[in-house]
Amino acid sequence: MNQAASISIPAILKVGNKALDNIGNYMKEADFGQVVIYFGNGLIDLFGTKVMDSLKNEGIEVLEYREIDTVDIDDIIKMAFSMPNKVKAVISIGGGKVIDAGKYAAFLKNIPFISVPTSSSSDGFSSASASLIVDGRRNSVPAALAYGIIVDTDVIRTAPEKFIYSGIGDMISKITAIYDWVYEAGHGVSQLNDFAVMIAKKAVNSFVRTPYESIKDEVFLKELLDSLSMSGIANEIAGSSAPTSGSEHLISHALDKLLEMPQLHGIQVGVATYIMSIVHNHRYKRVNAVLTETGFWDYVATLGMKKEDFIKAIDLAPSIKPHRYTYLHEEKYREAAKRVVLEDEILNKVLV
Ligand SMILES: [Zn+2]
Repeated sequence: MNQAASISIPAILKVGNKALDNIGNYMKEADFGQVVIYFGNGLIDLFGTKVMDSLKNEGIEVLEYREIDTVDIDDIIKMAFSMPNKVKAVISIGGGKVIDAGKYAAFLKNIPFISVPTSSSSDGFSSASASLIVDGRRNSVPAALAYGIIVDTDVIRTAPEKFIYSGIGDMISKITAIYDWVYEAGHGVSQLNDFAVMIAKKAVNSFVRTPYESIKDEVFLKELLDSLSMSGIANEIAGSSAPTSGSEHLISHALDKLLEMPQLHGIQVGVATYIMSIVHNHRYKRVNAVLTETGFWDYVATLGMKKEDFIKAIDLAPSIKPHRYTYLHEEKYREAAKRVVLEDEILNKVLV
């Protein structure tokens, strides 16, 4: 019998223009009088004054703030236990690294974590796990879901466009991820959670149906960030990353292992989503339409990503998560995926 799940969801969810100017107000409403803030590299210059002023205006005491540029678990453990004792919340402002570091430090101290992504490169800001270096290798480590998610769409808009493309790639991947999860459950390897499936589906469908003129439109960015936030909740409900991470993510993880200089997570995932949607024979026209219309393919075409790397990654994919059962865990579908890489017209244009 399925157990009814008890889940935690973020108590603060603010996605919109100028959200960062109101961070003091949000902390005050949550009764977080003392905070520690971690900034990504170079971000104190960019956002320090705005954030500090907002907190000061609401009487929030900043016990410690600094830039961090490490996801080594040993560094983060030291960081966590050197935090002042009266800290009520940990705030991370920046990209994936500082979010993962702060998320894990807060988890170790069992205090609330406030996730403030400054780019939209993946759904990591809303996930419960942290990608850290353990014994010299990148690993996904369990942590807790953020207590609060604050996304300033003005900040996202001014970040380089590649981060928006990466977010688009990570979001569109829910189409193939869900398909793989259903397939896996059909083989009795895992159990579907219908609610998690629905949330992940609604998130991606709402995103792909949003009308926009430019990917920097407020409505488009808000939709993208809202949908990425919902993905984290789908995982929380499922108790695993299965709703948001299928064969397409395995290809990207494999590329991370194979390549000295991998591309952004969502860029790799977006290309892999297109490949797998053709293998699945499921919604590949929609996937292609989104990747074409947003300019994702045009961007990919500038990167010189290699077909041969995708071929190797497809072969490596099942060994990344041997306990799962995606399409790529079957040889015939790995062969099909490799044929897509070699023969597909679009991939022939954007890959080398
Ligand atoms: Zn992802």
